[in-house]
Amino acid sequence: MNSLPDEIGIVPLCFSYTFYCRKCQGIVSHKTCPHTEQDHFSLSGTKVRELLRAGEIPPVEFTRPEVSNILIEWWRQKGSSNGN
Ligand SMILES: [Zn+2]
Repeated sequence: MNSLPDEIGIVPLCFSYTFYCRKCQGIVSHKTCPHTEQDHFSLSGTKVRELLRAGEIPPVEFTRPEVSNILIEWWRQKGSSNGN
């Protein structure tokens, strides 16, 4: 049975179930990472938004500090414009 990824040579990534794996040392999914949940560092998009809204930097394992700073600035500007 041929799946679509086999036919087109591209594997679609589902960002809904990605997480950081300590052994892979990167953001992975269950499709790309063979390790167990004990090696995984899960941080949902909702949790990240909560952190950014509070002006806190997400864990380094998840987002590089320089990226976090950009996201925090973005949230501040967004937050001030919609009064949320
Ligand atoms: Zn892994």
